[in-house]
Amino acid sequence: MTQTAETRPFEADVARLLHLMVHSVYSTPDVFLRELISNAADACEKLRHAALTDAALMAGDPDLKIAITVDPEAKTITIADNGIGMSREELIENLGTMARSGTEKFRKALEEKDEGKALIGQFGVGFYSAFMVASEVAVTSRAAGADEAWTWRSDGSGEFVIEPAENAPARGSTVHLTLREDHAEYSEEDTVERLIKHHSAHVPVPIVVSKAGEDETREIVDGKALWARPKSEISEEEYEEFYRFTAGAFDKPALTIHTRAEGRQEYTSLLFVPEMAPFDLFEPDRKGRVKLYVRRVFITDDAPLLPAYLRFVRGLVDSEDLPLNLSREMLQNNPMLAQIKTATTKRILSEMTKLAGKDAETYEKVWEAFGAVLKEGLYEDTERRDELYALCRFRTTKAPDGTRSLAEYKADMKENQKAIFYAVGENRERLAASPHLEGFAARGIEVLLLSDPVDAFWTRTALGFDGTPFKSVTQGSAELDEIPADDGDIKPPEPGHEGDMAALSALVKQALEDRVSDVRSSSRLDTSPACLVAADSGYDRAMEKIVSRHGQGGGFGGKPVLELNPKHALIKRLAATAGNGDGTSEIGDAAWLLLGSAEILDGEAPSDPAAFNKRLLDVMSARFAPEAVSGAADNIASDGGADGSGV
Ligand code: ADP
Repeated sequence: MTQTAETRPFEADVARLLHLMVHSVYSTPDVFLRELISNAADACEKLRHAALTDAALMAGDPDLKIAITVDPEAKTITIADNGIGMSREELIENLGTMARSGTEKFRKALEEKDEGKALIGQFGVGFYSAFMVASEVAVTSRAAGADEAWTWRSDGSGEFVIEPAENAPARGSTVHLTLREDHAEYSEEDTVERLIKHHSAHVPVPIVVSKAGEDETREIVDGKALWARPKSEISEEEYEEFYRFTAGAFDKPALTIHTRAEGRQEYTSLLFVPEMAPFDLFEPDRKGRVKLYVRRVFITDDAPLLPAYLRFVRGLVDSEDLPLNLSREMLQNNPMLAQIKTATTKRILSEMTKLAGKDAETYEKVWEAFGAVLKEGLYEDTERRDELYALCRFRTTKAPDGTRSLAEYKADMKENQKAIFYAVGENRERLAASPHLEGFAARGIEVLLLSDPVDAFWTRTALGFDGTPFKSVTQGSAELDEIPADDGDIKPPEPGHEGDMAALSALVKQALEDRVSDVRSSSRLDTSPACLVAADSGYDRAMEKIVSRHGQGGGFGGKPVLELNPKHALIKRLAATAGNGDGTSEIGDAAWLLLGSAEILDGEAPSDPAAFNKRLLDVMSARFAPEAVSGAADNIASDGGADGSGV
């Protein structure tokens, strides 16, 4: 291994992030201290954990602490910990590359949006925030148990230097900041103490502060576990501050749940439901963030303590009964952990239900931020499905703001309405304008507008809510005839018209050959002439599309059904023509145009764009330049149109 100094460039992404940090006009760079203290505390907790299996790592210096030294003359601040430390490779890897996927996302957000700078305040970006206040940062570190120690040093421009350390601590890391002139206040004891009390009062490791050259050190934080104290002694501010520390967040928790379980096993949980979604909420690994402690010792933030659909919950569980040396396998299959998971899940859902009841406004924020995640539970946790249904809020045709519960929907159901109707699609505006909703709107029937990708999944297995089944507006026959229109009467089908409609449907079906499985008259439509729906046995069409896009199968929905609106003037005319037994070629063209326009309204291209286009142009020509088109319609009709080969 090299024993001399080496200069290395930063990974490109880090360099860009640092540039933004250094040049940010961010108004409260205070957060840098919290970030560095939190790293130091993590390093101490990691050591405490590692020492469970290798006690020698702690030898000689068993009292973990964070020591902060300020030097107002030299304008420096140093944050030292006697935690796990870093080897040369770890210094390079952890401080020279974008170690966290979240950080990378954050950087993108910073670059893309003007308001990105404000985001620093919401998320923090760990170690690199030091460059908001420092002209140089030097990290000297000795990994626990190692002989050698190294210093990492950078001014936040394109490079860093890694060199053998002089005056290295016996164990752990020392982060030394040479402050920029305009940030010299961070070398003042008063400022630093105030900041620690404000942002880091519940760090689980003691923090002491001293002034360079003076012997006196003052303990600002005692490092005792907040969650071990009785609830009655903890103020709301303390909970909030602890939440921010433990979640690395900047918002307020919408819900704080602090409980002590006694009985079969003893454990304490302190859990928070945030108000704001983190930017990595939809990371594919869907990992939870609740930390596991055993008798106040941090074990892992990787334990399966909650189901994936509650991965937005932050905080910790501290067990009195689990063994300290839990291996990875034990974590996965531990019955005690499984029991904690069940009880904790139950508790969170019941507290959320209570919140929804007593503080609808806060609950709406939670739903807005995490509803899409919570809905994963509708198909992953069938046991708690009913409870989850009750927590769901929807955008509907009646409430575009998205605050309707299923209970409210049910209470407002129309006479003879037998299902909870929903429309699924990727685009909320297009959904609301879909022809499939017309017949529902005409009857004043509320429709849930589902536009989260997850909606395509839970609706597939949804049995019903409180005894009422769910039904897609594009699926099967709509059963709308029995529901009175808004003005109170059921419009009777026009006498003598059914025969014509049957003749038209048959001709259209014949013209479209194998493109549709059926053609029928429908009460689903009001102002549009036609729309496509899934066959009675098939899945919702929009849902099929979303599912196959997310690589989860799909595509087995079969051919759609083309529905015609018997009240529409165009359809009436065509039906009359069909009923008279003539106009076959005219109807053939109309059939293809109707199919194409229904496909377009579904957000698709017509299945044969060239043939569709030619027919459309012919119709336009017939209208605007009749002299140019004599005989054109016959040409198309003789193509058959089904494969477009003649075009
Ligand atoms: P984060 O702490 O969120 O992972 P940071 O950018 O703050 O991101 O730090 C990157 C990594 O550097 C940490 O994950 C940790 O492994 C390492 N690190 C930072 N500070 C220390 C420290 N004081 N002691 C040991 N390791 C540290």
